This record gives sequence, C-alpha cells and structure tokens, in this order.
Amino acid sequence: MLFQFQAVGRDLFTRGLVSSHSGNLSIRLGERLLITHRNSRLGCLEEQDLVETGISRNDRSTPLASTELAVHRFIYQQAPVQAIVHAHPPYTVALSFTESEIVPWDLEGRLLLSRVPVLCQREAVRPGELAGEIAQTLKVHKVVIVRGHGSFATGQLLEEAYHYTTALEESCRLLYLLKTLGITPNQTS
Ligand SMILES: [Zn+2]
Repeated sequence: MLFQFQAVGRDLFTRGLVSSHSGNLSIRLGERLLITHRNSRLGCLEEQDLVETGISRNDRSTPLASTELAVHRFIYQQAPVQAIVHAHPPYTVALSFTESEIVPWDLEGRLLLSRVPVLCQREAVRPGELAGEIAQTLKVHKVVIVRGHGSFATGQLLEEAYHYTTALEESCRLLYLLKTLGITPNQTS
C-alpha cells in the first residue's frame, strides 16, 4: 500500500504537478481512510507520512492528516470511489481562471474525461473549502477543478486517479497551446 502512495507521489512531484509540500493522496479502508500527513512531501513519502483516521469520526490521528481531509471525507461519504488524488497542475490551474469547464480537444482526454467542471469561490481559497460542492460534483465526474487551486481526481485505485490527473493536465496544456496559436477548438467542435 505504501508503494502505491510512493509511486504516485513521486511521479506527481517529478512531473511538476505539485510543489515540494503540496498535494495529497488517500485511499478508502472501509469506514476509514489512509491519507497523506499534513505538510508531507509527496516526492519522498515514507511510512510515517501516512495517517489512518475515520471517514466520519475523529480520533487521535485526525489532526495529523492533510489539511484537505474534510474534502476527502466528503467525497468518500458521497461517492463510491476508493482513491483520491489532489494536485496543483499548472496548465489546469491557469485555464481555471478563464474557463467554466474544461472540454478536452485531444482524444485521450475526450475518451477519459469527457468534460471537467471548474468550481469557483467568491473569496480566497482555503483548504477544506467547497468540500460539499466538490463531493457532489465527483458523484458524476471523475475529476473536478477548483479555480486558482487545483484538481481533485477519483478512482478505484490511486493509479487510476493519477491517470485522470495527468490526462487532464495534458488536455489543458494542449488547449493552452491552441489558444496561444489563436485557435479556439471549443467553438469549432
Ligand atoms: Zn491544494
């Protein structure tokens, strides 16, 4: 189990999809979850960087969990998913400022994601905000973007949620490049 966290965390960091101490990962364990430690470094996770706590109940480990614990809990309470990846992919975050949803133009993105909603908040983003709205959206979408913050992807495995995260970033990178060329694919599709 640690190996899955290490593989996905290392890849997210080396691909530049999280900074040294940002992003978080979790998997469901029945009524409990295993989540990365608050301020852990996804690029070099060790056993002590994983925190097990309740999905609906607090215990002594709860304060050690990622600052996004509330969002992960809401998602597991409302959607039948087994794993969550939260990252800050730069092209995805950049486009979140101008788009209300991402509609991939590349084949992989279209097949995997179809379209990805962008959620907004009126005030500055703080960890844990929008938890209810994110969870509601993830009942019908595999990934959701929070404007100016990052992505939340779900799956049956961490690897699957990671795949959606990288596919979204690839789609956003292509959309960004097309925009800089003056091409607006969503208007011509
Ligand atoms: Zn974040």
